[in-house]
Amino acid sequence: MNIDKESNYHRIIKIISTKPELEQITKKILSNKRISTDDALRLYKERDVGFVGILANYVREKMHGDKTFFNRNFHIEPTNICIYNCKFCSYSSKINQNSAWEYDIDKILDIVGSYKNIPVTEVHIVGGVHPNRDLHYYGNIISCIKKMRPDLHIKAFSAVELDFMIKKSGMTLEDGLLELKKYGLDSIPGGGAEIFDTKIRKEICDEKTSSLMWLKIHETAHKIGLPSNATMLYGHKENYSHRVDHLNKLRILQDKTAGFNTFIPLKYRKVNNDLTHLGETTTIEDMKNFAISRIFLDNFNHIKAYWPGIGKQAAQLSLSFGVDDIDGTIDDSTKIYSMAGAEDKNPKMTTKELISLIKQANRIAVERDSLYNILVFK
Ligand code: SF4
Repeated sequence: MNIDKESNYHRIIKIISTKPELEQITKKILSNKRISTDDALRLYKERDVGFVGILANYVREKMHGDKTFFNRNFHIEPTNICIYNCKFCSYSSKINQNSAWEYDIDKILDIVGSYKNIPVTEVHIVGGVHPNRDLHYYGNIISCIKKMRPDLHIKAFSAVELDFMIKKSGMTLEDGLLELKKYGLDSIPGGGAEIFDTKIRKEICDEKTSSLMWLKIHETAHKIGLPSNATMLYGHKENYSHRVDHLNKLRILQDKTAGFNTFIPLKYRKVNNDLTHLGETTTIEDMKNFAISRIFLDNFNHIKAYWPGIGKQAAQLSLSFGVDDIDGTIDDSTKIYSMAGAEDKNPKMTTKELISLIKQANRIAVERDSLYNILVFK
């Protein structure tokens, strides 16, 4: 950020910052100091989302200027068969239900083959926790994909899937992750974190991988050189304190390992699951959540808006609320959010559309690889 722009920010923030209780927080942010969990809670309770947005925008522009990152990717969801019963899930099926699907290796390679000569750089693989599939089954899938497309970065398996497949194979966590790395795993997505608070987690996804285990899996992955992403599912039963606690646990781990690439807030969507009665957060609340995540997670380089989850327009708006990354082209290859009632029933964007969406928000589109190395400025 150039000096003129920075002093403009300072001036504007001084004019609109009329509340004494926010003054100390504002001072910290403008002098690049870390805010506390109490500060974050105060920002969540602040009604003026525009003010919080300006602070987040300041942090975002200090870090990245107008650059907005995206990548060209597609998803593979090998199965929706899952042993768990998360109350917010609109996606999973039991093994004998009509709605269940599972792709065999030929189908998966057909999907990868359909991207021949298309300049995608990443495949994102996540799905349900199938009772009969272990680490070697999924390891084989990864190594077959690598043989077919050695240029593709394979980002695969949430901590919840990893927890199950590694235990099923009788391996220790570290050995299991090392084995998957040998098969060709390049990084780990951020799913399955939901909300770390033990009480709320018990209410919404009682049986699955605990918060402590989620954090341990990511810590171990970072230790052996597998970077990962982090998420937070918000807008269900949690309150602001639970969100701050979640962000704080991530910030503490990131201080220790520096292994997270990006943080992705995931909005709870209400269609076709057991929490429908709770409704959904407003766009204003979504923007505030992005903004506070950006301000609080000072050791995360990137905050991502996952557009299939919130819709293209909200993703575009988020670029003024601290977000610097709107993920990828996706190419209609994920059902997780469309089955939960998201705006895009067939989520796909051409590279041209993605760039135009970024430019309309007065940002500069930057194509990145999965590790945020810059490929092309647009
Ligand atoms: S959210 Fe994931 S782990 Fe939970 S039921 Fe759905 S597919 Fe299974």
